[in-house]
Amino acid sequence: MPPPPTPSRTPGTWDVIVVGAGPAGATAARVAAENGCTTLLLERATIPRYKTCGGGLIGASLAALPPGLSLKVYDTARQFTFAHNGRRERTLDSTSPTCAMVYRSELDAALTEAAAAAGAEVRDGTALTALEQQGGIVSVRTNRGDTLRARAVVGADGSASRVSRYVGVECAQVDLALEVEVPVDGRTAERWRGRALMEWGPLPGSFGWVFPKGDVCTAGVVAARGNPVALRAYKQDFLERHGLVGPRPLHDTGHLTRCRRPDSPVARGRVLVAGDAAALVDHWSREGISYALRSGRFAGDAASRLAGAAEAEATAAADGYGRRINDVLGAEMRASSTLMSLFARNPSLVHTALTRLPPAWHRLDAYISGRTSVAGIMTTPLARTAAAVARRLPAAREGDRM
Ligand SMILES: Cc1cc2nc3c(=O)[nH]c(=O)nc-3n(C[C@H](O)[C@H](O)[C@H](O)COP(=O)(O)OP(=O)(O)OC[C@H]3O[C@@H](n4cnc5c(N)ncnc54)[C@H](O)[C@@H]3O)c2cc1C
Repeated sequence: MPPPPTPSRTPGTWDVIVVGAGPAGATAARVAAENGCTTLLLERATIPRYKTCGGGLIGASLAALPPGLSLKVYDTARQFTFAHNGRRERTLDSTSPTCAMVYRSELDAALTEAAAAAGAEVRDGTALTALEQQGGIVSVRTNRGDTLRARAVVGADGSASRVSRYVGVECAQVDLALEVEVPVDGRTAERWRGRALMEWGPLPGSFGWVFPKGDVCTAGVVAARGNPVALRAYKQDFLERHGLVGPRPLHDTGHLTRCRRPDSPVARGRVLVAGDAAALVDHWSREGISYALRSGRFAGDAASRLAGAAEAEATAAADGYGRRINDVLGAEMRASSTLMSLFARNPSLVHTALTRLPPAWHRLDAYISGRTSVAGIMTTPLARTAAAVARRLPAAREGDRM
């Protein structure tokens, strides 16, 4: 792809304003600054800020980090334990351990530093409160009472995004995740060292996880939004079974994850959305950091083009962003949506395939380490056969136990 044109400068106006300093926004701001744009990165919270997240970086996320980023990895999952409703536990070895466990406060602060080092100005404690566009300029109002102007805006303000509402992002799947970060004693830390757990849960499409981070474990559950009482009960049961209820949690929070409809817009005029704001999250694993980093890069490039584009060219630049999202990330999300419907319909079948058929685990292991994508998994003969079998089986009922 050719480098974006050098943007034309308008006095008193930023080339690019990015809203939200998570992985998507920090990446978009870094890329826009590297492209030579005057770039302002706004963040509502004070950096570093806590973010509800497992902090598991799969291979695709690690590959999308800026080269040389300094980041502390607290553990790497060499083994994965899979279970179905607390039973049929099986632990499998990764052939190329990759999944890195990090704290999001540290990852996001490091990415923001990289954006600042590339030349972006960072203003934390500053939230977008409204935006509008006219005559090739986007006006951004903030909680500080000022109105900022830009040639292009990237909304990377997470799953409760205001910019997403402005753009009109539509979702096919909305889930609620409940998560704790708990300090663990030496024996418990040893039990989890180098091992992550994924348990398919009792609610349709639900699962629980435990991610090790040395003297802390991050554990949580996720399921479709709309049944918080059942989800809280699952969380309690899950944490009790894994001995993670005793210690007072460092954090005990909830957060939505959203998956876009394949035809959802990702741009409106000179305003683009990226990451969770664009509802770019894997339907099955709810992995979102690799989507945030990759869409952040695409958005940074597209915003750089928009900044230099005359009114007549702006639509083509925004359309180009939409095509890139659809071609690369949309293809992965379509595959993960198929996997999710297979899994929600019959988690037992997915569990059996994963834990009893070595090729199935090897494909998932290859996805975790970044050697293939979910789309790559779903085109294998094994996945196609499993999907055909699952379609013929009656769907599992809520709460089915093995
Ligand atoms: C419980 C849970 C566990 C998860 N675990 C994993 C995991 O292990 N691995 C993985 O890959 N993915 C995981 N995900 C998904 C992942 O957390 C998200 O996909 C990822 O954080 C998306 O990054 P982002 O930059 O788009 O948004 P965010 O990280 O949410 O960043 C958005 C930023 O925008 C700021 N902001 C919001 N509104 C405004 C405003 N009006 N003005 C200015 N700033 C604003 C926020 O303060 C925030 O800093 C998990 C999600 C949940 C809920």
